[in-house]
Amino acid sequence: MISVTAIETGKARMKTAQRTGRDGRGAFGRKIDIFRDKAWVDPLPIYAFLIEHPEGRFLVDTGDTWRNSVPGYLPRWNPFFTKEVIIKVAPGEEIGPRLNAMGLDPARDIEAVILTHFHHDHTGGLDHFPHNRIIASRESYEVSRGLKGMLMGCLPQRWPIWLKPELVDLNGPAVGPFPASHPITRDGRIFLVPTPGHAPGHVSVVVRGDGVTYFLAGDATYDDVNLRAEKADGVTNNPDLSVRTLRAIKLFAAGEPTVILPAHDPGVPQRLAAGMTF
Ligand SMILES: [Zn+2]
Repeated sequence: MISVTAIETGKARMKTAQRTGRDGRGAFGRKIDIFRDKAWVDPLPIYAFLIEHPEGRFLVDTGDTWRNSVPGYLPRWNPFFTKEVIIKVAPGEEIGPRLNAMGLDPARDIEAVILTHFHHDHTGGLDHFPHNRIIASRESYEVSRGLKGMLMGCLPQRWPIWLKPELVDLNGPAVGPFPASHPITRDGRIFLVPTPGHAPGHVSVVVRGDGVTYFLAGDATYDDVNLRAEKADGVTNNPDLSVRTLRAIKLFAAGEPTVILPAHDPGVPQRLAAGMTF
């Protein structure tokens, strides 16, 4: 029995130009568009996903932390953090308390945490997992450290001091349109595929459930509307690569019944409840 549960860990607001970039606009122009944009999207959920599998429970991403809204937590020198995104997480909405409320002890009951990428709204809950395996792609980790990371939506200075992720290279077999993969479970029913674009080294988690496949897309796309329309977001540094990733996800979903689960898509709960495939 394999199951996937969405856990909401607070809300994020972004500009409309971040959710959907303008076609034909380069990476730099897209950032300008975000700063100029006066329109905010409605608050979007920040999801982590719990996968229950015979080999253990796996958590995909960790959401953000309530400390995000404490003055001084976000660096002022990069106005993107403080002016272009608004994160609202109550202490009880962090992933630790959420798991506790489900009767789960992070240390004892979670086999491993998998990070799709290192943007702060995916790593902010890491503090709850000092005793767990943390799995991430090597490329994603390397580009998220230091000043480079801080310029690209990561907060390496806020990572827990103990963080030493198990770094994986995606050099396993091709899966459908994806040129490589990396197995998470011995039975091969949970694996990573490369979905770069939104961030370099970004990975998605594929779960082959019973009769249906779950595609935990992280931020490869913000929602299924942008996925269908093949629209890259406003923060990508490589819009063409983002679009190639979107096409690969669509091709994958055309090959087997797949429930698409992006990390900020308000349609996720309904899609999961109804087993709605793409
Ligand atoms: Zn992101």
